[in-house]
Amino acid sequence: MTQKQTKYILVTGGVVSSIGKGITTASLGRLLRNRGLSVTIQKLDPYINVDAGTMNPYQHGEVFVTDDGAETDLDLGHYERFVDVNLTRESTVTTGSIYSSVIAKERRGDYLGATVQMIPHITNEIKERIVSLGKSSGADVLIGEIGGTIGDFEGLPFLEAIRQLRKDVGAHNVLYVHVTLIPYVGPWGEVKTKPTQHSVIKLREIGIQPDVLVCRTKLPLTEEMKEKISLFTDVDKDAVIEARDIESIYECPLHFEAEGLARIAVQRLGLPETPPNLEDWIEIVRRINQPANDAVKVAIVGKYVANGDAYISIAEALKHAGISNDCRVEQIWIDSEELDDATDDIVASRLEGIHGLIVGPGFGERGTEGKIKAIRYIRENNVPFLGICYGMQMAVIEFCRNVCNLAGASTEEIAPASPHPVIHLLPEQREIADKGASMRLGAYPCRLAQKSLAAKLYDEELIQERHRHRYEVNNDYREQMARAGMVFSGVSPDYRLVEIIELPNHPYFIATQFHPEFRSRPNRAHPLFAGLIEAALRHRDGTAKPAAKSSRKSEGS
Ligand code: GLN
Repeated sequence: MTQKQTKYILVTGGVVSSIGKGITTASLGRLLRNRGLSVTIQKLDPYINVDAGTMNPYQHGEVFVTDDGAETDLDLGHYERFVDVNLTRESTVTTGSIYSSVIAKERRGDYLGATVQMIPHITNEIKERIVSLGKSSGADVLIGEIGGTIGDFEGLPFLEAIRQLRKDVGAHNVLYVHVTLIPYVGPWGEVKTKPTQHSVIKLREIGIQPDVLVCRTKLPLTEEMKEKISLFTDVDKDAVIEARDIESIYECPLHFEAEGLARIAVQRLGLPETPPNLEDWIEIVRRINQPANDAVKVAIVGKYVANGDAYISIAEALKHAGISNDCRVEQIWIDSEELDDATDDIVASRLEGIHGLIVGPGFGERGTEGKIKAIRYIRENNVPFLGICYGMQMAVIEFCRNVCNLAGASTEEIAPASPHPVIHLLPEQREIADKGASMRLGAYPCRLAQKSLAAKLYDEELIQERHRHRYEVNNDYREQMARAGMVFSGVSPDYRLVEIIELPNHPYFIATQFHPEFRSRPNRAHPLFAGLIEAALRHRDGTAKPAAKSSRKSEGS
């Protein structure tokens, strides 16, 4: 049997960064899936880092984690959410990872004495990554997004590689999509197509003629403008696609559908022109724009809140939970450092009126006391709470200090000499830590305790969730905490690692060592987020009961 021919759509960006290349890629993936095609996506990032794991979330946004434990660019999160696929480490390529393999091959002598060069060795390695994901995924379509902007020095090998790919796999199997900006300048808001023209000229210099132009714009693109752009760039007028600024990213697929983006892609690639089924997506957008229920307010306490992208999967998961509860979720971002030295009154005034709280992931000391104070407030005031990773560790510390009376309880991460290291490195981890590779990354199984809130929400016994952390709950303190009322409702199958904690005498108090946000989807809100918003609605309406006694059905699946 001959292997099916994967089609390649390669997305580049021009003019400036941050104009929605990732969302365009993700939306196109969604629209192709809605036509019954199987889709995989790859992000090719020209930066030199081998992966995103070492990048500061404050500068670069969240580090997204795949099931198989790759630490990736946050765009992979958009792809997974829009296309509803679980990607792997094959979906992330960086200059650093390309050079690492080429250099390893050179050291092994694989190049048989040849001079190792940018072309063909680096470009071949890039093409190999693209084609090998196409093969291993068996997808009808692979969409590859090239990070950065045309004209970036470090992007050149990637552009050269995708230029060559067309010759390798045949012109009818490749589509080039270029995303640009149409700015409005001057006192009368004149529209300017010249940056787009220049960007296409730059692409052509490399030998790439785009097939489709996606033009990000504040105002509608008129027919005349499309004609002008088409004339200057040689892109057919119907392939000049408007990408107007819109309120919610989840509207983008519908907008692109109306503009014909996916129709043009399937036509050009010779794929079947099946009409798309968009019913679910239309309902998602309806619930975002006209929710049946009034808004709830959820505060998110974290260290990097000044950068909107640092906790993007949490922000999106909250939106999904709003979709599943048919309500808007107002997100209130609070810098944890702001609460570090705050008095109880100040903490109370900052959190008063919220209907739910999330304390998110993090590393290091700054802001930890602020997180602990916020958790104490919501525990004592019965406000629904979801703690994630560091947020869960802070909830354990807060409980040990204030309920178990373990003064000075802390985590070894910030207080190695604490009298009560209730969060610590496991003995076997210590050795690995010395070698610098101690993170628990990717999906691990977790067993849920029967009749717990977690079991009710998930409606499953064994779950898989993604991790990215070093430290764990110290088992020496488990019994003491359990006696004081904490339930370890999710543990690793060998019972050694605590994965979920909850407080049954609270309306909704649940925290996880893993990151539930990475698995949430707009069409399938994560049960822990959906449960939080459901509890927040009850809190707002004054109908909250302790979770253990409620007869809530699990939501979001
Ligand atoms: N800093 C904590 C650890 O390494 C938590 C990490 C996180 O929140 N992702 O265990």
